[in-house]
Amino acid sequence: AKYVYDFTEGNRNLKDLLGGKGANLAEMTNLGLPVPPGFTITSEACRHYLAEGATPDALEQEVAEHLGALEERMGRRLGQADDPLLVSVRSGAKFSMPGMMETVLNIGLNDESVHGLAKQSGGNDRFAWDSYRRLIQMFGKTVLGIDGELFEHALETVKGDRQDTDLGAEELQTLVETFKGIVREQTGKDFPADPREQMRLAVMAVFDSWNAPRAILYRRQERIPADLGTAVNIVAMVFGNCGNDSGTGVAFTRDPGTGRQGVYGDYLQNAQGEDVVAGIRNTIPLQELERLDKRSYDELMTIMETLENHYRDLCDIEFTIERGKLWMLQTRVGKRTAAAAFCIAVQLVDQGLISMDEAVTRVTGDQLAMLMFPRFNGGAGKRRIAKGMNASPGAAVGKAVFSSERAVELAGQGENVILVRRETNPDDLVGMIAAQGVLTSRGGKTSHAAVVARGMGKTCVCGAEELEVSVSERRFTAPGGVVVTEGEVISIDGTSGVVYLGEVPVVDSSVVEYFEGAEPDEDLVKAVDRIMRHADAARRLGVRANADTPEDAARARRFGAEGIGLCRTEHMFLGERRQLVEDLVLATGTEERQAALDALEPHQKEDFVGIFQAMDGRPVTVRLIDPPLHEFLPDLVDLSVKVATGAATDKDRALLAAVRRLHEQNPMLGLRGVRLGLVIPGLFAMQVRAIAQAAREVPGARPEIMIPLVAAVQELEAVREEAVAILAEAGVDALVGTMIETPRAALTAGQIAEAAEFFSFGTNDLTQMVWGFSRDDVEASFFSRYLELGIFGVSPFETLDRDGVGRLVALAVADGRRSRPDLKIGICGEHGGDPDSVHFCHDTGLDYVSCSPFRIPVARLEAGRAAL
Ligand code: PEP
Ligand code: MG
Repeated sequence: AKYVYDFTEGNRNLKDLLGGKGANLAEMTNLGLPVPPGFTITSEACRHYLAEGATPDALEQEVAEHLGALEERMGRRLGQADDPLLVSVRSGAKFSMPGMMETVLNIGLNDESVHGLAKQSGGNDRFAWDSYRRLIQMFGKTVLGIDGELFEHALETVKGDRQDTDLGAEELQTLVETFKGIVREQTGKDFPADPREQMRLAVMAVFDSWNAPRAILYRRQERIPADLGTAVNIVAMVFGNCGNDSGTGVAFTRDPGTGRQGVYGDYLQNAQGEDVVAGIRNTIPLQELERLDKRSYDELMTIMETLENHYRDLCDIEFTIERGKLWMLQTRVGKRTAAAAFCIAVQLVDQGLISMDEAVTRVTGDQLAMLMFPRFNGGAGKRRIAKGMNASPGAAVGKAVFSSERAVELAGQGENVILVRRETNPDDLVGMIAAQGVLTSRGGKTSHAAVVARGMGKTCVCGAEELEVSVSERRFTAPGGVVVTEGEVISIDGTSGVVYLGEVPVVDSSVVEYFEGAEPDEDLVKAVDRIMRHADAARRLGVRANADTPEDAARARRFGAEGIGLCRTEHMFLGERRQLVEDLVLATGTEERQAALDALEPHQKEDFVGIFQAMDGRPVTVRLIDPPLHEFLPDLVDLSVKVATGAATDKDRALLAAVRRLHEQNPMLGLRGVRLGLVIPGLFAMQVRAIAQAAREVPGARPEIMIPLVAAVQELEAVREEAVAILAEAGVDALVGTMIETPRAALTAGQIAEAAEFFSFGTNDLTQMVWGFSRDDVEASFFSRYLELGIFGVSPFETLDRDGVGRLVALAVADGRRSRPDLKIGICGEHGGDPDSVHFCHDTGLDYVSCSPFRIPVARLEAGRAAL
């Protein structure tokens, strides 16, 4: 294998091997943009190192060769005493993990070469010593594992109230000695002076950082596979810290919050790399660079345009200016908010850069779901206490907390919290995950808080500078003497950046209003409209709704449902009708039972009439009653107590006997579904009659009768015969089909299809039975541990498990269609509204997915994306 690639050898398609940063540095190099020379050590080398505990044998030699070539090209050797080449060592995995992994700058400095660097920079001693102290600080923290606070504290002590740029050469030289002392004290060894050794250790540290706890947590959150490893980039240093004609910045080619074109970024004069993101000093808006250094600014604008046209997408970049010369240090297709994703996609279509097909693939169902969350409707009279930057949209309300630990603790107790920090760092990730929203008083739209929150779709207001945050006192103060202490409720609006005291009520999103039928007016809604139309035209999968009431059915239709894929009739047995069900269960003879069924029938019919009307000629799959009967009866313990204390009536005693008789250890695996229909004569017949009568009353009604929990074709045949007879007698046409939700049904789908006109996969039960996971219990009991252990990346109840459950589904589809070529097949488990599972259904040749009304737009979009 080849473990090292020069920037001139790679390209953007090699992300698997070179990581995002390395691949894009290579791409920019090949575009002729000003990228400092360098090379990339592949993620394959990292994987080898992580698996074997040692780097591959060939690596050392390859690195030496590439370093040699770099030295030749630059005309100086790494750490050469009189004129040193310095390099940065930067991590870069396939998927960006902001702030999660390590970077070390200024490798190659030591007590000798620091003088060479000063000489090389025209006698700029301050710059040379500043670079050296940064090296020891970064190296000490990330490579040697020393607590970064020790260095920070030493720096603060020297600095006092001044900025870091106010420190003179001599002070920095003293600081270097202090830092070296910290290294000696903490590790028992001297700071390594040998430049090659520095580089070697830094590379290993980057490899190791792949498995740092915060990186593991981030990957789990973002569903990034755990075994990819990271590439490492070794880049000739360029310096933003050698005076006021130098600096460093970050920029977006358009606004990542709204998609609007323009100049968006932050710049920091006389600073190096991480200073911008870390919020050490306040940055200035990128526009002001035009005034400071017009030539570099103009060049940067041209490069940004080149990058957008080349990548045909929003890009974010990092750059450094060294004494008036612009260098590009990074670019990538940038993260953006959900709203911006939709807007940018159609803007790029209008600019002629991408097709509508591609625009649809550029947005996701998850992003659409985010746009359907409620938002604040003004401040509703609540006191507005600050305004920061609208870093990541949404409306979040919760108790203010000032540490990640507290956020996790309160969230664990079911509280909504807002994490308030001066600025966040990668250690705050757990708190950000636990919180409803994040509020910081420092840092711009590219700060850690903003970038990470946007990536997670979490509401964030950052840089609310009017706020004085005191983490140690667990409170912040706002202008006008407002003091907010831990536990007080605040509301933050990530769309406007406004912070309110107290709880602000939320209203529907404009995207939901559009789905409800409002005309698209704002740009975002127009973009959603165009993309949805194109997705609908492209998709092959039908989209139906799981709905049990006329109201839900009507909403589902407005949201674009083409029918109902699951109407759970047991939901119609609750509420005041419970009494009627109780009578049914307690009935002792045929006559009593029939009377109870007769009493239920008109109610059932009425329900179906309402739903058929709401669906106006579209198919409605009615599932016959499924859950265990005892769910309709009083609690065994309560009733026993009542009887034992003598407060019971005769009826209570009869009830208790019935409850005892029907009690099951494993109700989910007990008397449910078709089993119930076969055990209680007349129950299914009553339901089928109600469906038939309702269909006769509603012109154009298209009922489909679905039998649940079938495991053997014989069960289905018995029920089907009766149903078909009732339908024939009523003169009603209806398909009779079955759910496939037991493993045996899937395995014998060929036989079952002989008696079923359609299949609908009940993947909730199928997942439960294939994994042997009780769907009522496991998610609360041990799933979090399983997720931690990486046994699965996401709950199989959320995203369909392709390898296990998916294989059974595919088998049943193939066998079912072999017996009955025109078999109609859908899915109605929760997976029907899950993006990845929708793609699976498309790939597996299902006819439709069915999901809850609010997920319908998501399913339509993903079905379109799956077809493109
Ligand atoms: C299923 O099991 O996937 C299903 C849709 O039925 P229920 O959730 O009602 O058991
Ligand atoms: Mg089920």
